Amino acid sequence: KPAGELINSLCATIPDYPQPGISFKDLTPVFADGAALKAVVDALVESFKGQFDAVAGVEARGFLLAAAAAYATGTGVITVRKAGKLPREVVSEDYALEYGTATLELHRTDLAPGSRVLILDDVLATGGTLGAAARLFERCGIHVAGVGVVMELDDLGGRAALTGHNVRSLLRL
Ligand code: IMP
Repeated sequence: KPAGELINSLCATIPDYPQPGISFKDLTPVFADGAALKAVVDALVESFKGQFDAVAGVEARGFLLAAAAAYATGTGVITVRKAGKLPREVVSEDYALEYGTATLELHRTDLAPGSRVLILDDVLATGGTLGAAARLFERCGIHVAGVGVVMELDDLGGRAALTGHNVRSLLRL
C-alpha cells in the first residue's frame, strides 16, 4: 500500500488535545507498524534521493524518522533540540507558539558548512517549528536540501513559513 493510505488508516485523531478546540493527529500507530514505518521512511528518502549528506530530526518525534532515514541511506543523523539540551556551542532560533514562544537549538559544528541536510518531522502545522529548524542550518552555512513530513495540516498554512524550501508531505489533511 502507498504510504499516504497507510498513514490515513493508522493515524489517530484526538479531539480537544492538548487543549479544547485542537484536533490532535497522533502518528504513534504509524510508527508502531513495521510496514507503515518502512513505507513512510522509504517515501521520504525517495523524494530527496541523492540530494542530502545528512538527515536532521526535530525533537522528539522527528528523531525517529531521521534516524531511520539516515540509516537507510548511510548518512549521519543530526539532532535539532529544544533549548538547553545540547552541551556544546549552539545556534538558537525562537519561534512563535499559539501562546508565547519556544526555542530550537543546533550544535554549531555537528555538520560542516556547505553540506546538504534533509530535515524531517512528523507533522507540519503552522510551520513555526520547521521554519526555525531551517533557519538554524542556514545560519551555519548548511544548505537545506528539503523538508519532509509525514502529515501536513493544510488549514494551518505551514508552507508559507517554508517559502523557498522543497517541502514534501506524504499526506495532506
Ligand atoms: P508547527 O510549529 O505549528 O508547524 O507545529 C509542528 C510541531 O508541533 C511538530 O514538531 C509536531 O510534532 C507538533 N504538532 C503540531 N500539531 C500536531 C498534531 O496534530 N499532531 C502531532 N504533532 C503536532
